[in-house]
Order: sequence, then C-alpha cells, then structure tokens
Amino acid sequence: MKQANTAVVVGAGFGGLALAIRLQAGGTRTTLLEKRDKPGGRAYVYEDQGFVFDAGPTVITDPSCIEELFTVAGKRIEDYIDMLPVTPFYRLCWEDGTHFDYANDQEALDRQIHAINPADVAGYRRFLTYSKAVFEEGYIKLGTVPFLTFRDMIAAGPKLARLQAWRSVYSMVAKFVQDEHLRQAFSFHSLLVGGNPFATSSIYTLIHALERRWGVWFPRGGTGALVNGLVRLFQDIGGRIELDAAVARIETEGARASGVRLQDGRFFPADAVASNADVVHTYAALLNGHPRGTAEAARLQKKRFSNSLFVIYFGLDHHHSQLQHHTVCFGPRYRGLIDEIFNGNALAEDFSLYLHAPCVTDASLAPPGCGSHYVLAPVPHLGNADIDWDVVGPLYRDKIFAYLEERYMPGLRSQLVTSRIFTPFDFRDQLNAHVGSAFSLEPVLTQSAWFRPHNRDQDLANLYLVGAGTHPGAGVPGVIGSAKATAGLMLGQVSA
Ligand SMILES: Cc1cc2nc3c(=O)[nH]c(=O)nc-3n(C[C@H](O)[C@H](O)[C@H](O)COP(=O)(O)OP(=O)(O)OC[C@H]3O[C@@H](n4cnc5c(N)ncnc54)[C@H](O)[C@@H]3O)c2cc1C
Repeated sequence: MKQANTAVVVGAGFGGLALAIRLQAGGTRTTLLEKRDKPGGRAYVYEDQGFVFDAGPTVITDPSCIEELFTVAGKRIEDYIDMLPVTPFYRLCWEDGTHFDYANDQEALDRQIHAINPADVAGYRRFLTYSKAVFEEGYIKLGTVPFLTFRDMIAAGPKLARLQAWRSVYSMVAKFVQDEHLRQAFSFHSLLVGGNPFATSSIYTLIHALERRWGVWFPRGGTGALVNGLVRLFQDIGGRIELDAAVARIETEGARASGVRLQDGRFFPADAVASNADVVHTYAALLNGHPRGTAEAARLQKKRFSNSLFVIYFGLDHHHSQLQHHTVCFGPRYRGLIDEIFNGNALAEDFSLYLHAPCVTDASLAPPGCGSHYVLAPVPHLGNADIDWDVVGPLYRDKIFAYLEERYMPGLRSQLVTSRIFTPFDFRDQLNAHVGSAFSLEPVLTQSAWFRPHNRDQDLANLYLVGAGTHPGAGVPGVIGSAKATAGLMLGQVSA
C-alpha cells in the first residue's frame, strides 16, 4: 500500500494522538479531530477551584513506548514531560486489615509474602518467571504487530499454547500461589484493562512483568500533562488538531474513504482515515448507511464488552498523608463480585475500589494543604444492567464516600470542597462508548489479536482503526502499541 499524503484521525485519545504523531513524523500531513473541548479521551482533565483531576489513566507503565513517540519525531521527551517514579506501585488493602505494598523491591516483596504465607515466596518467584516469559512473547514480540490475517494468528499459536494462554489469569496465579490475598494481589491487574481475571487469558499476567521491568510512573502535572505534551509534540512537527470537532460521517467513494464530515457540516478530505473512536460507534454511526458499516456494526454488537466504571472526582481541604498514591481497596468478595460486574444484570451491594491520591507524588495538583482524589468502582455495562445512573449515581456516591470515610479517609465528608461523578451514561454519551463500556471489547482470548477488530478495515482499503477496540487492546501502553501497528500499515512499513 502506497503511503498517504494526507490523513485524518478521528479522536484524540492516547491511541489517536500516538498515531497522529507517527503519521506526521512519517511524512503524512495529518489532522486530528476531537469531539470534546480537550484532547485525551478517557484521559480528560477536570479543573475546579485549584484542584486538578485526571479523569482516567493514572498508572503509567512502559514509559519507553511514550519515549519512542518523541524519538520518531526527532525530539527529546525531557523537553516536554517530566516523569516521576511512583513507589510503592500500589497499596492493596483488604477488609480484614491485611495490606500489601507492591513495589519493585524483591526483598520487600519476599518479606511481605513471607508474612502472609511463607510457602508463597518460592511460588511468587515461579509466577514472576512465567509472567516474564509471557511478557517477552505477548508484549515485546506481538504487542505492536497488526494481526490482519488468520495466518498471523496461526504463527503465534504454538507459543501461546506453550504459555497455556487458554487458562485464565486467576487460574494461572493460583497454580503458583496459595494464599487468597496474594492470589488477588497478583491477578487483579487485568481489571486495569477491562479484563475479568477469571475469564481473561493468562497472557495478561504480562502486566505484572511489565510493571516490574519498567516501574510505575506519573507525569509531573498529572496524566493531563502527558496528553498536553503529546499534543505539543504533534503540533511542533506540523500536525493540526481541531477540538470541538465531532465527526458525523466517514465519507466513501467506492471501496475507499474519501474524508470525514463534521456535525457542523465541514468536510475534511483525506487520502486515508483512521478512527480512534469506539469501534461500534465507528461502524454504526460514522459509516451509517454504508453496507460495510451495517454489517460490521451488527457483528461487533454481538461481542462481549468490558465492564463500565463509576468514578467520583473529589477535592478535600485536607491532605491525607496516610494514603499512598494508588490504593486498591478490596471489598468482602472477589470472585463473586467480579462475576456480578462482568455478567450480572444489577449493581452489587458491595464493591471493590481503586483510590487515586496524586498529591502524594505531585502536590501541585491541589491548593496548598489540600488533596485531589478520585475513586472508582467497576460496575456492569449498560448492555447487561439497565441501571438509571441519574438516580442511582448520587446514592452510590454517598455510599462510597461513607465507606472511604470509615476505613481510609477519616473526616472525608466534612473536608469536601468539590466533587463530580462520571457514570456509564457518561461513557456512552460523552465518549460514544458502546453500552458505556470503559475499555471496549472484553479482552478474552476469542476477542484478542486476529479476533479483535483489525487495525485496517477488510473492505475499505484506506480506513484504519486505532485504540482500545483494536489489537492489542486497552490501557495506555496497549493503545500506544495499537498506534504503532496501525502506523506501520499506513506508512507502508508493514506488508499485508
Ligand atoms: C477511569 C479509567 C481509569 C483508567 N486507568 C488506567 C491506568 O491507570 N492505566 C492505563 O494504562 N489505562 C487505564 N485506563 C484505560 C485507558 O485509559 C484507555 O484504555 C485508553 O486511554 C483508551 O485510549 P483510546 O486511544 O482507545 O481512546 P479514548 O481515550 O477512548 O479516546 C477516544 C476519543 O475519540 C473521541 N471521539 C469519539 N467519537 C468521536 C467522533 N464522532 N468525532 C470525534 N471524536 C470522537 C472521544 O471523545 C475520545 O476523545 C483507564 C480507563 C478509565 C476509564
């Protein structure tokens, strides 16, 4: 395929931004169109009364994939972003008072594992060896390869079989580790990318090795500073970005995309079009009326989608110095709760939470002496659970605040300066996410690699996809990897 002179990328999430940078750096004049008033997609930023709230990703792993974007553009990452290490990576807490500080310090890990269950020290080391092998295969070798043909899948098959990719994350962890707390500690990671640890392929244990290899990072100024750094990079190399630019249609001529039409009527012609928008939205809405759009939307709607999230952003006039930057607050149930989140048709009574306290790493994100936070609870998506979030949302917020105040943040409600919620309705309405899913298609083996929507459409030869709905999947390193796979196709570096 000949390289396009001009391209339009729909959506300025991390995937869209990374693709736009690679295209522009590769010599294709690229325009990035974003429907919202700010770039970042799930990594949007809210600001209120001096509090800065990153809306989405906060655990930044694999900084090398971000650095590569600067390298291909001939720039230095240090001139744009200051990445700060986060230690411990996370604090994991259970209701029985057990807690575990997960960090890149083997001795500290051994000591903590020994205190919980001595036999698991050796088991954890065997698990780590396994996780590293999966990481080499699944991330380093296959993470940025576009799986366009079934041949690509067959080629990867034997290795995936040797790594027992058909097993779930939890079952693989349980093979090595006996204690239930530790099984949870080493299996919850797939939830960060929308994967049910009891159903998602054990390939996703690679996240563990990935964190051990490169650490957990946080950009100074928050994830929003990373988004702004990438936008600046894109513009510095000549890229054009338009905000408040909702795309209404991908226009076609024969079996090709000819450009995109905005809701305000403007038309952007292009030699190639790439969509970073939700994959169902891309086919059902942007290609509405086109036979390919109708067929592919119908096929995708039958797939399994990841859970949604309920998020509360809140600012306090108090700094809770007892917190770590990232805390996972496990509720009373693990398997049962996860099953209800992924397969249930109602909101569970209990919850597990992720609590973000970024001022631990960067105090500038709140006024002096104050704290910016967010807390999220995984919840079923709207296709499974018909919940009226306009009614349930405020009640759920109060329940979560009461729980946090009792167990983690004494005085929380009296310290509250500002708060806002983001519900599955917002994922659906603000981000055009099918059934309000927070992570797009669920990353089960039968929806991964070749089985995931391909980085290039099979019929419209110059229409491409990038982001969480494509290979390799959700998460910041995942969507930046998908951009590398898509850019390889668009710049003609990969033959297919
Ligand atoms: C609360 C939360 C916490 C998370 N935490 C982490 C974490 O700690 N670490 C991690 O690695 N990952 C995390 N993730 C996952 C990660 O954020 C996502 O997988 C990733 O950011 C998705 O990027 P994307 O490129 O697929 O696009 P998105 O971020 O989904 O962006 C798509 C963009 O397309 C735009 N768009 C949609 N339709 C149109 C249209 N018609 N016209 C124009 N624009 C359109 C949208 O407005 C949006 O800006 C988290 C996700 C959430 C929701």
